[in-house]
Amino acid sequence: MRTLAARAAGAGGVRPAAGPKISFTFWLTNERYFRLRRVVKSAHNGSMDPVSPLEQALHAARARVLSDLAAGDVAAADVVSMVEASVVQRRWWVEQWPEGAAYVAGLVAQDVQDALLERYGRWPLCPVCGSGDPHALDVEPELGPDPHWVCHKAGVKVAAVGSLGSAAGGAAPS
Ligand SMILES: [Zn+2]
Repeated sequence: MRTLAARAAGAGGVRPAAGPKISFTFWLTNERYFRLRRVVKSAHNGSMDPVSPLEQALHAARARVLSDLAAGDVAAADVVSMVEASVVQRRWWVEQWPEGAAYVAGLVAQDVQDALLERYGRWPLCPVCGSGDPHALDVEPELGPDPHWVCHKAGVKVAAVGSLGSAAGGAAPS
């Protein structure tokens, strides 16, 4: 046991080569931390200053899309800023139309999909079809609640937006 502990301590400074990539696990951990702080802050304020449903929807949308990005191992330095840029735009959008709060996750997913297509290529690649040309999944409904990733080629719902990790069968956290 002592040897293992010593080994673990010795390995503490060694990190996998990450190159210029961002660790999404790290980012998501930070995200949880800040959300937790927010909850604690609200608790101190009692019911006087609840986090608005719009902010909750935006936080949830950001977390779901980041989770799907992490599941696909899409980790480029500017991907988080793509998500943030979309969230900023969609905050304005949902402020104009609060009834659309449930649509935000699907919209952010599509914004990021479009931004990635311009700079990197198709995302997320279909994990269902084993053969043929690699193709991206689509969000359905494009404008509606409860958005899912679907493969139009196979005609199947692959996963809810935010649950791509479990659908791909990858080593998703939690
Ligand atoms: Zn497919």
